[in-house]
Amino acid sequence: MKISEKGQALLAKYKKFQKLDIFLLALAALSFVFLHNIYLMIALVVFTFVLEAKVYVCPHCKKKLDCRRRVQEDTCCPHCKKYMFKDLD
Ligand SMILES: [Zn+2]
Repeated sequence: MKISEKGQALLAKYKKFQKLDIFLLALAALSFVFLHNIYLMIALVVFTFVLEAKVYVCPHCKKKLDCRRRVQEDTCCPHCKKYMFKDLD
């Protein structure tokens, strides 16, 4: 499937964001295991979810997407069923 430059940029951004998301959740787990700091863990988890809700949304219907799901060129939004990285202009 061919997607526009804008679509590719968005796909790259989402992939980067998925890595950041895993990193933040790992950090939350580590802060609990090693620092025994449950408040820091909760803060990090909440921060991660707020970030997900703001950044990780469908470009068409703006609904939140599943961050754990793999994204690729032909990924469809589970809400509006559109190709996420197509017809962005
Ligand atoms: Zn959608």
